[in-house]
Amino acid sequence: MSERSEPELTLADLGESEILARIFPRLPESSATLVGPGDDSAVMKAPDGRFVITTDMMIQGPDFRLEWSSGHDLGVKAAATNLADVAAMGARPTGMVVSIAAPATTSVTFMEDIADGLRDACLELAPGCGVVGGDLSVSTVLTLSVTAFGDLGGREPLLRSTAQVGDVIAVVGRLGLAGMGLAALFAGERAKARASALQAQLAPLPPISQGVIGALAGAHAAMDISDSLVMDAGRIARASNVVLNLDEHVIDDLSGQLAIELGIDAARARQAILFAGEDHALLMTFPASVTLPEGFLAIGFVDACEEGESPHVALGGTSISENGWNPYAGWNGETS
Ligand SMILES: [Mg+2]
Repeated sequence: MSERSEPELTLADLGESEILARIFPRLPESSATLVGPGDDSAVMKAPDGRFVITTDMMIQGPDFRLEWSSGHDLGVKAAATNLADVAAMGARPTGMVVSIAAPATTSVTFMEDIADGLRDACLELAPGCGVVGGDLSVSTVLTLSVTAFGDLGGREPLLRSTAQVGDVIAVVGRLGLAGMGLAALFAGERAKARASALQAQLAPLPPISQGVIGALAGAHAAMDISDSLVMDAGRIARASNVVLNLDEHVIDDLSGQLAIELGIDAARARQAILFAGEDHALLMTFPASVTLPEGFLAIGFVDACEEGESPHVALGGTSISENGWNPYAGWNGETS
């Protein structure tokens, strides 16, 4: 016989004000807030006179599945992906606004779990960054949209277009791990997958504070690796009109380490290192004279385009196809 239990409280059972009253106390406060939640808008400090702003949306289906992700996972991932884009500009995240559209049948507990995930990601990755506002709506498709803000602290933003010939290419954070987590989930092999790969995919904790550290060390260019090392390196190459030449020995080393960590063969690990996305590692270029900050790994050099050559990514001097995550097609690295 099944046990009788109280039916779970859903969003339809509560009004918007009551839901917000339960969620807001769980969210982190921003240290840049002048007027916090409760008025029609928040008011935030912008001591730099400028602020960095980015947005990223997650839709149930193409971006996540509720069979795989908990509410807490979704909160962490929604925050982390936005924080990574702020960090990729060399900025310190200061605040975010969060909009969620959910079915009326969604449990209140699930919404509280999302709020707790947002809080835990901010506290862990970007202390001082808080949720300063948002919106709730109803939809048959669960949708989370986050807009995040950041402070440059008087520095110039790190762009994709400012890599210079002779720069060292460096990366901080993991490569290939989130992609292998996703591959395990798609294969129905969650039980066999390593916890590190599943967490990287479902609730990533990218190296947010390294954005400012890289900027302070003198980075010329930066972006976060959301789609794949090679695809995102190609974006820097084109924006800066240069060749990003990756060191094949370093890529082989990384592949070997990932293969051991995940118990997979090195060729598959190499595909993931080069062509899988969603790790949100930071890819930067530094003047060759710079001593790389702790945690950064040199993975290649920025070369000039030779006569008649287009900007591209090379591995060991040979041009490599720029495969990676495409939201309309999926991870196409396997077929390259
Ligand atoms: Mg990005």
